[in-house]
Amino acid sequence: MGYGSLNIIGLGPDGDQHLTLAARAALEQSTVVVGYEGYLRQLAPWLRRAFRPFPIGAERERVLAAIALARGGARVALVSSGDAGIYGLASLALETLAAQGWEAEREFPVAVLPGASALSAAAALLGAPLGHDFAVVSLSDLLTPWPVIARRLAAAAAADFVLVLYNPASRGRCTQLTEARDLLLAHRAPDTAVGVVRNAYRPEQRVLRTTLGALPLDEIDMLTTVVVGASTTRPLGPWLVTPRGYGTVQAGPVDRTPSSPSARGERDGG
Ligand code: SAH
Repeated sequence: MGYGSLNIIGLGPDGDQHLTLAARAALEQSTVVVGYEGYLRQLAPWLRRAFRPFPIGAERERVLAAIALARGGARVALVSSGDAGIYGLASLALETLAAQGWEAEREFPVAVLPGASALSAAAALLGAPLGHDFAVVSLSDLLTPWPVIARRLAAAAAADFVLVLYNPASRGRCTQLTEARDLLLAHRAPDTAVGVVRNAYRPEQRVLRTTLGALPLDEIDMLTTVVVGASTTRPLGPWLVTPRGYGTVQAGPVDRTPSSPSARGERDGG
């Protein structure tokens, strides 16, 4: 049997409207899709394929199954939500391949395909909070010791980065978010702008603008991304914006003749 292939694919936040054309094509060319059962459910409405669903947490098993299938001749799509290289399965898959002595010349092709990460999805729904330098920290201490996470949070806060928090809390883990907030409050004012986005671009989507001091701790869970503003981040109308630093932005010419929708009192709904 000839070699198969392994494409490691980011599904975007919803596995549908925000999936790239390249990812869609790779999924359509695959013979089997390996991933967390919840993500495979997102694909089922439009992708008729063999699915290899795995429960949450079984990351090593998922990766080993995907590699074994590719080695056996299948065209495998190994999927993560968002971007597969951002707290996704890409690093574990490549480490496992390397440990198994995989060599490009001798074996099946492997590719990592980018996706829209939760940070771009959350930022888009909030406006433009990532318009200037930002840092991303996962609050999950399952794989990283808490002192390491705390040190990175403090350093990013001291350097006045916008901070994106992934994995902010889960059922068995809620103290980290409280500790993170307290750590950030040592460097940022309580009225620092914060955006909270849950289930971005999914049917249950929720978008909240708040402040660091008023962070609604018990509404934030594993399906939520938190964006903590830098000192320059500010609410502008319905948006959160971190200016790029063009200085004072001029209004420029504004057309308020009756033909413009705003002059007719219309709203664009967003
Ligand atoms: N590879 C993913 C991240 C996986 S880590 C990506 O690039 O998006 C899992 C964390 O991502 C969650 O705990 C949450 O913080 C965030 N996340 C993933 N999908 C999300 C969504 N649709 N809305 C809000 N946050 C999301």
